[in-house]
Amino acid sequence: MFGFGKGKDEKKAEPAKAAPAPAAAPVAPGVATAVPVASAIPRGPMNGLMQDWKLTVDKVIDHAFQNHGQREIVTRTVEGPIVRSTYADLYYRSRQVSNALLADGVQKGDRIATLAWNTTRHIETWYGTMCIGAVLHTLNPRLFPEQIAWIINHAEDTHVFYDITFQPIIEAIKDKVPSVKHWVVLTDAAHKPQTTMNVRTYEEYIAGKSTDVVWGDFPEDTACGLCYTSGTTGDPKGVLYSHRSNVLHTLIGMQHDAIGIGAKDTVLPVVPMFHANAWGIAFSAPAVGSKLVLPGAKMDGESIYQLLNDEKVTFTAAVPTVWLMLLQHLEGANLKLPLLKRVVIGGSAVPERILRAFEENYDVEVVHAWGMTEMSPLGSLGAMTENVMAQDRETVVRYKLKQGRAPFGVEMKTINDEGTLLPRDGKTAGRLVVRGPAVAKGYFKNAGGNILDDQGFFDTGDVANLDEHGYMQITDRAKDVIKSGGEWISSIDIENFAVGHPAVANAAAIGLPHPKWDERPLLIIELKPGAAATGDEILNFLNGKIAKWWMPDDVAFVEKIPLGATGKINKLALRATFKDHKLPTIQAAE
Ligand code: ADP
Repeated sequence: MFGFGKGKDEKKAEPAKAAPAPAAAPVAPGVATAVPVASAIPRGPMNGLMQDWKLTVDKVIDHAFQNHGQREIVTRTVEGPIVRSTYADLYYRSRQVSNALLADGVQKGDRIATLAWNTTRHIETWYGTMCIGAVLHTLNPRLFPEQIAWIINHAEDTHVFYDITFQPIIEAIKDKVPSVKHWVVLTDAAHKPQTTMNVRTYEEYIAGKSTDVVWGDFPEDTACGLCYTSGTTGDPKGVLYSHRSNVLHTLIGMQHDAIGIGAKDTVLPVVPMFHANAWGIAFSAPAVGSKLVLPGAKMDGESIYQLLNDEKVTFTAAVPTVWLMLLQHLEGANLKLPLLKRVVIGGSAVPERILRAFEENYDVEVVHAWGMTEMSPLGSLGAMTENVMAQDRETVVRYKLKQGRAPFGVEMKTINDEGTLLPRDGKTAGRLVVRGPAVAKGYFKNAGGNILDDQGFFDTGDVANLDEHGYMQITDRAKDVIKSGGEWISSIDIENFAVGHPAVANAAAIGLPHPKWDERPLLIIELKPGAAATGDEILNFLNGKIAKWWMPDDVAFVEKIPLGATGKINKLALRATFKDHKLPTIQAAE
């Protein structure tokens, strides 16, 4: 009953009123007249009387099964063909994965790794692992095998599920990861790679397994997922998501002004599941019943266009590099995108050319997003407010190029080095710090120690301003990393290897703007007095020591590398000195 009279009656019994009720107070018919003077309800905070419905991710897939069971999932398989399944299939096969893991003796809290593209089998492995309380650890195949082995050892993974394309990486690390007892290749017997390793195929692994299993019998703060970030200096650090944080992050993403997908949408997450949870789409799409289209290993413009067109995709998400490849394909073949409505672009700043091409040539709304692994990852999204939309197109474009606004569930502010709050004036830049139920409070195994300030805010390492409408704009990066094609390159690692060259006194790697990759590394070298070396010699020296795509695009020589007050390399000064330096790789990309 929602009757107004109820509230009035309750007020009469309020313990705060010291004076007894007046004798003539009106009494509702049927209510006992002997109103107690002192209430039996103790003063103080009171618990609500709502159900303890645990926020665990098995609820997402249960809901999809019950309410959207026949909604389609389309996968471009790593083997080649496009296959179709449903959320009901996903539900049953995930349960088989759970039983296969349990048969291997997997217990709650054990870490199960995947090295895999966006495919149905990968999502099944996610849910099959998480829903029994084991921890799904996504490995990033773009890392160097040595780094992948380091991360597996740090996480102490017991299983690795991997795609056939990654067999060479697996061969390179197999003898260096003693915790791994089970290798499962995500394919069927017909496509099993040639190997001497003791590997099971995924289809063999789950074949005949029961779909009967108990899911979700653990508290909502149980660990659910693990993803390492190299977004800060030093060794990679593990961000350990909980069921509660993943469910709340799903709800954050489901807001209309966030990812905002619905049951009518067909969703293509190009953003990889191995990097920051595919921005939560593997949870939010089943939660709302969107048709899901998964691109497998192919992210080139033609393959993505084919899926967008054939599957009638209405919503998609990826880093700018992917969209650059798509736009080149569209422009080259004179194609249109009549069905696509919205694209979320993030991970790196959206170049104006991409924004304008989508919105002005293809009538597709661009939503610029910013986030990070530590934030699950959604941090801000560029949905427009009414007062911004009322302005002229050029002003709107300026707002769209900012990194967006915080959705409900994310608190953000900017502070200076002394911790003083900075004004929201759209000009004053400072450290961007964040707080929320899906933001990390520490790293796995306490790597890096305490990462929150005394108010519980996490420093993102980004330098930004906030404006009066709540739009955030990144202006610089305090952390020492280079972001290329949406993935990190550690400047420190490049520098450490470069100073190993006998002629090098000091080395600094900085990111310079690049039209295709957003940033590419420039290596700046200070030679030892009297020593000589060419750029090519130094690059040859790095060859084999760092991943190929980390290889600097150019080498520059300086008399002296500038150092800051604490003896650290002054990257800000170097970025200013080299801001007009044109990388030789730029022309080839244009
Ligand atoms: P992800 O790339 O998945 O968002 P990472 O943790 O790898 O997560 O990287 C987060 C960092 O990437 C941010 O702190 C920021 O430096 C950079 N970044 C992410 N999105 C943007 C964006 N839209 N514009 C500029 N930089 C961004």
